Amino acid sequence: MEQLQNLIGGELRGAVSGEWLDNIEPATGEVYSQIPRSNAADVNLAVAAAVKAFPQWSTLAFEERAACLRRWAAKVAEHAEALVHAESKDNGKPISLAKAVDIPRAQQNLEFFAGAIEHFASEAHIPADASHIHYTHRKPIGIVGCISPWNLPLYLFTWKIAPALAAGNCVIAKPSEITPFSAFMLSQWAEEAGIPKGVFNVIHGLGAEAGQAIVEHPQIKAISFTGGTSTGAHIARTTAPQFKKLSLELGGKNPAIVFADCDFDKALATTIRSSFANQGQICLCSSRILIEDSLYDRFKTALVEKVARMRVGDPAEQGTKMGAVVSRAHRDKILSNIDAAIKAGGEILCGGTVASPPNTRCNNGFFIQPTIIEGLGPSCEINQEEVFGPVITLQRFSNEKQAIELANDSQYGLAATIWTQDLSKAHRTAAAVDSGIAWINCWLVRDLRTPFGGVKSSGVGREGGFEALRFFTEPQNVCLPTQA
Ligand code: NAD
Repeated sequence: MEQLQNLIGGELRGAVSGEWLDNIEPATGEVYSQIPRSNAADVNLAVAAAVKAFPQWSTLAFEERAACLRRWAAKVAEHAEALVHAESKDNGKPISLAKAVDIPRAQQNLEFFAGAIEHFASEAHIPADASHIHYTHRKPIGIVGCISPWNLPLYLFTWKIAPALAAGNCVIAKPSEITPFSAFMLSQWAEEAGIPKGVFNVIHGLGAEAGQAIVEHPQIKAISFTGGTSTGAHIARTTAPQFKKLSLELGGKNPAIVFADCDFDKALATTIRSSFANQGQICLCSSRILIEDSLYDRFKTALVEKVARMRVGDPAEQGTKMGAVVSRAHRDKILSNIDAAIKAGGEILCGGTVASPPNTRCNNGFFIQPTIIEGLGPSCEINQEEVFGPVITLQRFSNEKQAIELANDSQYGLAATIWTQDLSKAHRTAAAVDSGIAWINCWLVRDLRTPFGGVKSSGVGREGGFEALRFFTEPQNVCLPTQA
């Protein structure tokens, strides 16, 4: 059985405790590797190594830090095929998705922030009488914690560590214990990429043990976290007395607003993708489909007809579009969300239960049929709580005002998708919706320079482009007179 290892001070090693945790393949339900069960002792070692490495890394020319990230990206490209298979096995996502999205994006994140740091210049301010110059000295924070979730493992892991390292920080990173494999692979190539020992450390283990130790550590000055809203709230409570800098990317309950004047075929095809990609386990997935009255029946009929024909399959097979959900516990949680919706009076239009892919290898895997539910109002649990699985609800609206009210009737505010051919209406709706991202007539189109994040319970702060580099630096105002 393969045992993955932590990376601490450039050394790959097990946990100080000597304990291991099982890592399960969601498609089969079988244990196939183990990870170190790390705790505060391992985090302390990593912090000590990072403290030692920081003076040299933080003063290295930005071109040299960028070169390390580019060499690392080249390693990802070289091992792309192996990473695709590892990510699919670890997470249950179809190979085709890992190949098209996760691994290319991980490579791109490393390359993007190598380029971004080369263009990240300090500001200067000169008053009208030119008596003084103020300039902003952006310094790396020091040692930062990067904690990532399981849904897009290497994609979100690199989205955090790349800007942190580019800006000159030393990193203590924790991938999800449910999907540790690709981060372990990446950690094996850090030295070859030229990253000095102690600059980049990876701690595997449980959130409540390894994650908690990172969050509590007094020498870790900033936490960049992506995960559930309740974990984010816990981290905010824990770090507040230490005044740590925090970036929180949390849950969503994203509306897709389908107006009657939309491009029907495009809205339909993209809504299916935005609802069920990665088995609905993308924080940006649509989960509340709001449809204008006059289009409701036609859209619903076409949607149900197409979704009912989607086949759940072995993620390891090339043709599979819907794979496994990430764990037994998560499958059971999704099923209980569906049961609660039925008890509340919801009607299942398709799906609603477990799925059995034809490959016998998957007999004990965690599969759910893509599910559509209608007949429930906005205050129902399923329309308020994040399911984070292949489950959507349909609600109808009669005008623009009501569409916006329904869209905003949520504690979350991550992403909204708006379907209409009336561009004025599209802009009005985008401006009125409480969300960090509004996609008009498209979904998941990303430009890494744009600010990424949510409002309300979907998070605090923005990632992406210079926003991320600003987060991972501390600005100092320096002022001097121009005359001696
Ligand atoms: P989670 O909150 O359970 O775990 C996320 C990470 O936090 C894991 O690495 C976990 O080990 C760690 N963790 C757990 N408890 C901790 C603690 N006490 N201290 C420190 N670390 C701790 O989330 P998850 O189930 O892995 O991911 C799914 C959630 O992530 C969903 O809610 C989804 O919407 C959200 N998500 C948000 C975004 C975004 O950009 N807004 C992107 C992807 C996923």
